Amino acid sequence: MDPINRTLKKLAGSDRFQERYNEMKKQITGNPEVQQFFEQHKEELAPNALDQGMIKLYEFINRSSSCKSCPNLEGCINTMAGYEPKIIIQSGLIDLEYHRCPRKMAHDEQRRTETLIQSMYVPKDVLRATLDDVDLDSADRMQVHEMADDLVDRLIKDPEHYKGLFIHGEFGVGKSYILGAIANELKKNNRASFILYFPEFLREMKQSLGDQSFSSKMDAVKKSSILMLDDIGAESLSSWARDEVLGTILQYRMAEELPTFFTSNFDYKGLEHHLTYSQRGEEEPIKAARIMERIKFLTIPVHMSGKNRRN
Ligand code: ADP
Ligand code: MG
Repeated sequence: MDPINRTLKKLAGSDRFQERYNEMKKQITGNPEVQQFFEQHKEELAPNALDQGMIKLYEFINRSSSCKSCPNLEGCINTMAGYEPKIIIQSGLIDLEYHRCPRKMAHDEQRRTETLIQSMYVPKDVLRATLDDVDLDSADRMQVHEMADDLVDRLIKDPEHYKGLFIHGEFGVGKSYILGAIANELKKNNRASFILYFPEFLREMKQSLGDQSFSSKMDAVKKSSILMLDDIGAESLSSWARDEVLGTILQYRMAEELPTFFTSNFDYKGLEHHLTYSQRGEEEPIKAARIMERIKFLTIPVHMSGKNRRN
């Protein structure tokens, strides 16, 4: 008797166990897929492969194949939910390899497309915007549209491309809307982006300072493959937010040459002025200039005019 058989017998020490063991073996050897596998691989299999592999083979014959025996992914009956075992040979013995089942694959795919646009505090209309909806009723709106279209194209075709847009203009002209439209065009082509409404993001970061989440949030934002900071300049900025949050994010993105977009009510010059005066009224032109240098490195400025669409 080979060792595994002896161990099993010793463990059980009863006829009932022997009965169940024999029943299990009968089911396994009577299974057409197992029979076929042993037939096809008899050369590679060790003489004791069947006895050694009983537990694994039993799992295999009772699995749900192609989700046929499961009501849904949550109700998956397989030992490893969402995965189907496949018989393989390891050093002459039976082993199992696990592959995602069809439902798990569909589920993962859906999750992936859902997360293609991540956002924080961005209104729904912005998240649903498309470039086709952007009205072309003035020369500079046409220019923004053309630049957006062109950039999307480049970002899709050239993984090295990093220059984003700095879209500036009056309140309500549709700057955020166009960011959403760009994110949606990218999504259609499987490129992920992260849109942040900057003033709220800063508030959240300030609140996270005391807890563990601060650095993981910073990491997610600074490393996101395409980042869009909406409404920069609308926040009331402390030196800490400017240097430790905005500065850190921009430094990383500049060094790594990662595509970054901004919208702002200010142009470059106006934003530099805004960044110069911290909440406490201190004047810090050098720090502001350093931030602007990074923003300019990362973007092409474009002005957007038109009527205020919020009225
Ligand atoms: P901004 O960011 O410049 O202040 P928004 O992008 O928030 O402006 O746009 C203001 C309002 O106008 C929003 O309600 C938005 O949905 C709407 N809007 C902007 N552009 C368009 C457009 N091309 N078509 C339809 N609605 C638009
Ligand atoms: Mg806006």
